[in-house]
Amino acid sequence: MTQMEMARLGIVSEEMEKVAKVEGVDVETVRQKVAQGKAVIPKNKLHKLEKPMIVGEGFSVKVNANIGTSVGFSSLEEELEKAKVAVEYGADSIMVLSTWGDLRAMRRAIVEMSPVPVGSVPIYDSAVRSYQLGKSVVDFSERDFFDMVIAHAEDGIDFMTVHVGVTRRVLEYLRKSKRVLKIVSRGGSIIAGWMIKNNKENPFYEHFDELLDIAREYDITLSLGDGMRPGAVVDAGDPQQFEELFVIGELVEEARKKGVQVMVEGPGHVPLNEIEVHVKLMKKAARGAPIFLLGPLPTDRAMGYDHIACAIGGALAGYFGADFLCYVTPSEHISLPTVEDVREGVIASKIAAMVADVARGNERALELEREMALARRNFDWEKMFKLCVGKDIARKKREERPYPDRGCSMCGPFCAIRIAEEFALETERDLDQSHQKQSVID
Ligand code: SF4
Repeated sequence: MTQMEMARLGIVSEEMEKVAKVEGVDVETVRQKVAQGKAVIPKNKLHKLEKPMIVGEGFSVKVNANIGTSVGFSSLEEELEKAKVAVEYGADSIMVLSTWGDLRAMRRAIVEMSPVPVGSVPIYDSAVRSYQLGKSVVDFSERDFFDMVIAHAEDGIDFMTVHVGVTRRVLEYLRKSKRVLKIVSRGGSIIAGWMIKNNKENPFYEHFDELLDIAREYDITLSLGDGMRPGAVVDAGDPQQFEELFVIGELVEEARKKGVQVMVEGPGHVPLNEIEVHVKLMKKAARGAPIFLLGPLPTDRAMGYDHIACAIGGALAGYFGADFLCYVTPSEHISLPTVEDVREGVIASKIAAMVADVARGNERALELEREMALARRNFDWEKMFKLCVGKDIARKKREERPYPDRGCSMCGPFCAIRIAEEFALETERDLDQSHQKQSVID
């Protein structure tokens, strides 16, 4: 049974219990949202998952970190280190998007070590294999679409991106469009190329039932990919993007009928003033299913700093209802990320998620903010390091420019908090409250 099927039968799974505890909510709320398809708990039956996550309506905003090899950079050790760093800095999931080396060995090793859910894009394997055999990247069979999904399922992958909405009708829109960047989705471009070469419909769309049967067997959460996501802010919101979204929305209903958990992926590159409308339209079209945004990037001119642009877009998207943010690293659009890029990317997107959670009134997020404020007032530096996203980075900065007293070297003897304390601007009640509650992170 899938998590969704269990939830519908009133069964509370171990994962539902765990995520309810992490989110600080009643397990019944978790069960109901999963039963309705408004939230998902990605977990392959074959993956022993230490830290499951729940993504969806009413829960905290989650962050995904993409890792994986590319031609010329295919070290398993480096990818394992990226996965470790991503989890250490708070990524709620990892996607393994390798396109070089021994893809299967790498995927299995990451699933084995990862305490958080692992995602993938199975169609990459078909393209990589063809390329390695000296053929075109779209030179593979219709059967390969499903064989790769089965292989990834057997390897314990918890959620998979499948570009089901790239239909022949969508490609017709694309052909006529005035887009500057026609397709920027790697998986979307491979499937579109395959369809054009073979003059056939997208097998994932045409045989969606078969895909659902595989997903149901392993309880894979399908992440319905946006092959037509805009790759430039000037391309956002065109007919092929929305046509694909509406196709995906119909498939959400099909998946729900079969008890398969689904999320819906979204843009991409969107001007800041359009993020609200994109997120709300996605939620509506997706019938309330969790939405997973790649970015969004509200400018295309932040090269080298795209993680900052992504965090700005992600915070707003999260506030307006995005459930899951895919990080971007400083190397986005430039090169394969390093371990340090992964760390920077995760931190930036975690900040976006935290900002969104506070703005959405998430109780746990607000309690953590309150704990941070109290730790600042009490000069409890250890607590601050524990509560902040930068952890050792913050500690290193304090150590590099120390101050011998309770404040810091920013204001030295003119520390406003100490002056306030000295002149008794705090009431007895304030001080009592600061010590009463147990920390939500303890
Ligand atoms: S010295 Fe200034 S920056 Fe540092 S803790 Fe005090 S008020 Fe804050």
